[in-house]
Amino acid sequence: MVSLLISTLRLISAFCLLPFALAAVAVQSPRYDIYAVRFAHVPYGLSSLVAGAERGPQVDIAFTVWPLRDTSSGRVILVDAGFYRDKFIQSWKPQDFVRPSEALAKGLGIAPDTVTDIIITHSHWDHSDGADLFPKATIWIQKAEFEYYVGANGEVLNRGGVDADDATMFAGLKAAGRVKLIDGDNQEILPGIRVYTGGKHTFASQYVGVATADGTVVVASDNAYLYKNLDEKLAIAQTLDAASNLAAQKRMVEIAGTPARVIPGHDPAVFSRFPAVAPGVVRIAGAAKAPRP
Ligand SMILES: [Zn+2]
Repeated sequence: MVSLLISTLRLISAFCLLPFALAAVAVQSPRYDIYAVRFAHVPYGLSSLVAGAERGPQVDIAFTVWPLRDTSSGRVILVDAGFYRDKFIQSWKPQDFVRPSEALAKGLGIAPDTVTDIIITHSHWDHSDGADLFPKATIWIQKAEFEYYVGANGEVLNRGGVDADDATMFAGLKAAGRVKLIDGDNQEILPGIRVYTGGKHTFASQYVGVATADGTVVVASDNAYLYKNLDEKLAIAQTLDAASNLAAQKRMVEIAGTPARVIPGHDPAVFSRFPAVAPGVVRIAGAAKAPRP
């Protein structure tokens, strides 16, 4: 009698749990294909990238955007938007420069108006200036970063974090309802995409964890400039808080589960460590097969 009761209860609970089990399948996070797209490069001092490094040696740093493609929904997300305004081209003289929007179209067939979202890791010109190249994208940035650097009328509130033209651009995008401000650390802003703060490259710079078929990939952006930062546990040279930066780098490896899936912001070696799918484009992770040459 007792066993009949137990088995009846089991049956009832199985039926009761069924909708929850289906719901769990339905809301499963998408898995992204993730790429790195280099749109320029320039020699830059190692001592400006790695704390304590000797003065003199140069690194041919890559300027990069990281597209994420969710093949099931068609959503195309960029981590960072690069730069294109002429003033930066004139002052930095980047080599082999291609507008980030053109590099994405040429390398991966991503048209500018198909980009649905852009996650800005921090407001520096080389990561944010290109945000207005993508007319339909929603711009995601930390609230604390935005409000620390950009005034209500697009003025620069604190120097060193945002270029004046980019502050104007940000204010315009916000007025157009295209900016989503993120409230702090460890936020899943889109299914399968979680952002983290504490890297302290700028006031509230963030890094991004991305669910892929190969595991979680962490796009460090400038919270870790080079593999040398991560491998030798050295803070970035340009940080507001070296201890916080080192803690963030350690956490990135924990989130990814392996240092191999943490992607530094400017290291040219990213473009030799991962398989090339087009000139200047590598596939970091995901289910998509590399196109046949
Ligand atoms: Zn940078």
